[in-house]
Amino acid sequence: MSDHDHSIENEPHLQAHPAQPDPSETAAEKTLRHATNRDPAQEAARHSVFNEPMVRPTAADSARTPIDRDWSCPTCSYNLRGTHLGDPCPECGHTSLYQPPPLGETSYGTWLNEKRRNTPATTIWSTVVFIALAGGVWAVVGALLTAHLGIWGIVLIGPITEEVMKIAIVTGTIETHPYLFRKPSQIWIAAICSAAVFAIIENVLYLNYYFPEASSALVHWRWTICSSLHIGCTAIATVGITKVWSRSINEMREPNLAPAGPWLIAAAAVHGIYNASAVFMAAAGFDF
Ligand SMILES: [Zn+2]
Repeated sequence: MSDHDHSIENEPHLQAHPAQPDPSETAAEKTLRHATNRDPAQEAARHSVFNEPMVRPTAADSARTPIDRDWSCPTCSYNLRGTHLGDPCPECGHTSLYQPPPLGETSYGTWLNEKRRNTPATTIWSTVVFIALAGGVWAVVGALLTAHLGIWGIVLIGPITEEVMKIAIVTGTIETHPYLFRKPSQIWIAAICSAAVFAIIENVLYLNYYFPEASSALVHWRWTICSSLHIGCTAIATVGITKVWSRSINEMREPNLAPAGPWLIAAAAVHGIYNASAVFMAAAGFDF
């Protein structure tokens, strides 16, 4: 391709004849049309202009109104209710670009409300049970993928992968379908059961295939300490994703995963430190 092909004179709208669309555009259009047909109400709500960041009112703007509902700062989660749009957060100084949509206008919030009203309890509990079983199986895939990475796999990549994958299905559900949980307790059941299922599969694989000659002390260790570690680390990560969900539901806005990050990092750190100590103790001659 020569430089000439990229010349501005070759733009489609400057040609004498009608532009020939690239074949990839037909495929893209088909995909987009399919997505829109699946749930037109969701598309309308998610693409509403009221989900967009606003042009900030300036301090001199006399028409500025205080925020009339719970509306957390995207950086530090401080409740900005009662503060003025465009003012920096009193807690962290961040100036939010997002403001609550006018009441009654179609927005993510109206769609979410509608979905929450119309989702039956059976759908919600089926979701919880499905995730409780599938979340752990999914995480085993991650564990197997990192099993061959040696010491870095054990103390760094493995713990990160496992902690991410144990709560991946719960997190994905919260991000795309927050109405599929009615209460925080359902998130806890789904996440903790995922971790328990993961621990069970991992122990069965470990004790039957990798170390079939394991001492009874090792068997005992795996079923008590290792299982508790997996459930405990997922519990730490679950605190974060429950915050994400609560904020989305309470403020009727799109889930923002950022507040879950530090909790996930903490979970992976505890897991990594545990694994590093186990490697160290094994090297020092402890039999377990
Ligand atoms: Zn803030």
